[in-house]
Amino acid sequence: MTTTRTSALAIREHCRLLKLPGVGREYESLAREARERGWSHEDFLLEALCAEIRSRESSVVRHRLYEARFPELKTLDTFDFHADVGIDRDTMLRLARCEWVEQSGTVILAGPVGTGKTHLAIALGVEACRRRRRVLFTRAADLVRDLLEARDQRQLGRMHKRLLKHDLLVVDELGFVPFDRAGGEVLFNVLSERYERRATLVTSNLAFSEWPRVFGNDEKLAAALLDRLAHHAEVLTTKGSSYRMRKRGKPAATPPPGPPLQGATPPSGPAPGAHTTTVE
Ligand code: ADP
Ligand code: MG
Repeated sequence: MTTTRTSALAIREHCRLLKLPGVGREYESLAREARERGWSHEDFLLEALCAEIRSRESSVVRHRLYEARFPELKTLDTFDFHADVGIDRDTMLRLARCEWVEQSGTVILAGPVGTGKTHLAIALGVEACRRRRRVLFTRAADLVRDLLEARDQRQLGRMHKRLLKHDLLVVDELGFVPFDRAGGEVLFNVLSERYERRATLVTSNLAFSEWPRVFGNDEKLAAALLDRLAHHAEVLTTKGSSYRMRKRGKPAATPPPGPPLQGATPPSGPAPGAHTTTVE
């Protein structure tokens, strides 16, 4: 039996009214397959329901990716782990499973400019979106500007609440632009509020010893943050020269790398090849 043109129209209209876009899109090909393979009515219904679930899952993921405001989409499969940037593939694959996001953990990606920190941060954010987690990607300077604006409009509480709705906050480029004391404070408050409540990923070109400079030269604030955040974080250190420069075969603009950051212990000197104000 084939559906008439009228019933096809009615099915589409009912799917629209019932908000079943997956069924609406796939029922015709599923019905054809059902006829060819002699599926039972139950089998057909099951396949149609599965089509709807698949459709909803992919639209949730699309929505999560849209909400996350990634500057561009980067994934782990386009990351060249043979480029000797000091990042272990297995570690990244483990982080990509997002257990640390479920556990409200913190990851810090530190290292010189151009070594893939933002790429990896986006890729981990994308993985969290694929698992239907709410993610927000922001550059540290933009976040501080928004926080200060919210404070001036007496909306800071509301902004904090909104930020806490995100399962993962990615703060990119901590250290590129130093903040004044007020900026340092608002950022400190957000990061320490998330500590053990929601996951955070920070990328930075600075060593921990240089963090006070970011937080308005406030040693106490930086020490408190390091104590809460960095010392309990999974710290990954990229190394070497800019990937793009290397690809072009040009000599590195950054000095040769020093010793890597040791686990979560703040090093005494700057991060290998660290820049404080260089913007790519
Ligand atoms: P960073 O944030 O450390 O300054 P980026 O992640 O912005 O560096 O990397 C600069 C460019 O080089 C990006 O386009 C990124 O995708 C690319 N890149 C860096 N490292 C790698 C790598 N190991 N494999 C593939 N692409 C890379
Ligand atoms: Mg970057």
